[in-house]
Amino acid sequence: MSATGEQVDPNRSSRAVSEVVELVSTLIRFDTSNTGDPATTQGESECAHWVADQLHEAGFVTEYVESGIPGRGNVFARLAGADPDRGALMIHGHLDVVPAEAADWSVHPFSGAVREGYVWGRGAVDMKGMVGMMLAVARQFKLEGTVPPRDLVFAFIADEEAGGTWGSHWLVDNRPELFDGVTEAVGEVGGFSLTVPRRDGSERRLYLVQTAEKNLSWMRLRAKARAGHGSFLHEENAVTLLADAVARLGKHTFPLVLSDSVAEFLAAVAEETGLQFDPTQPDIEGQLAKLGTISRIVGATLRDTANPTMLKAGYKANVIPQTAEAVVDCRVLPGRQEAFEREVDELIGPDVEREWIVKHDSYATTFDGDLVEAMNTAVLAHDPQARTVPFMLSGGTDAKAFARLGIRCFGFAPLQLPAELDFSALFHGVDERVPVASLEFGTRVLEHFLLHS
Ligand SMILES: [Zn+2]
Repeated sequence: MSATGEQVDPNRSSRAVSEVVELVSTLIRFDTSNTGDPATTQGESECAHWVADQLHEAGFVTEYVESGIPGRGNVFARLAGADPDRGALMIHGHLDVVPAEAADWSVHPFSGAVREGYVWGRGAVDMKGMVGMMLAVARQFKLEGTVPPRDLVFAFIADEEAGGTWGSHWLVDNRPELFDGVTEAVGEVGGFSLTVPRRDGSERRLYLVQTAEKNLSWMRLRAKARAGHGSFLHEENAVTLLADAVARLGKHTFPLVLSDSVAEFLAAVAEETGLQFDPTQPDIEGQLAKLGTISRIVGATLRDTANPTMLKAGYKANVIPQTAEAVVDCRVLPGRQEAFEREVDELIGPDVEREWIVKHDSYATTFDGDLVEAMNTAVLAHDPQARTVPFMLSGGTDAKAFARLGIRCFGFAPLQLPAELDFSALFHGVDERVPVASLEFGTRVLEHFLLHS
């Protein structure tokens, strides 16, 4: 979406802008590594209590909620808006991060070091950067007595990195009243800029607003056959049965489906750059490569994927085991679930059973309406080179849980990024870091957006 917004002095400072870097750096210093095993996951509750302290200090009343398991900390704070009859807008961010191997990093992953114009550390982009921005803007609004147009709910959430079972999904199932009155929400992943070359030689910064995400489903495959001695002739081997099914599934290319958000994104890129994308051609992934590193995400939103990730069978070299198991990470496009499952069943055949270990639905909304207009206006006010475009995320976020309550969700964590930065590689990557200038820009945009939403 492109329109001329109200121009704002981009260098204008504010309380939020002046403290955002320190907040993000401190957030990173809480090691909130989420291993997926509740017994070894740590730090979320200390981090959540610290967030609550920052909100209390500004005058908020907060609610600390443990999501089903001791130590899984969530914090909620509400700011009353001018029109209580309008639905509330929730701004959400998760406090957990994926683990990091310190030896691989240039700086300690939980140092929150500020150097060379970046804040470094695990979570800098996923997503303590946004959490710090939320916190900075919430504190500023409360301290300065700002009344936004509608009620705002600031939500700091546990366990996103393990699918939200002990975070967003638990909260939606067990404490739905926390979301009373919330009609729309913004969180990760979206709002970041992607610089593309224009036909006339200039550059355009596209800001990718997430309007859709694939489903997230983890499938267990199990083959059962006859156990036996490894030296005998043996036709019904569970390992062989399973391996055949896994190989067929892993090598399979699911059909190309051009979802609305992907089509709109590609059309906008084509319009700006002159690059043409023809999804009917077999080399669409090759065409997308011209987009640079973002093609890793966009390419994964053209088809369902099923990637085998774990294998388990046997206990001794000369014993043919009775069962063999595999886990497959499946990501299914909106509207494709039934067709996907039919295709999987054909590939694995009748001798291999399947079950879902985790299954969270896909999500899609349209790129229109007042909230989208507010995002567009806020971005343009601070970056006249901007154009906001919708996109689909290949991964999953807490939006899956909130959408179950009928909340309309977007990924909008605004960041203006240097053109050369390989942003997508930083998610869960080594030397994860976020530019200081991007955080300051994002804080201004977030503030503008929340004041006009
Ligand atoms: Zn995240």
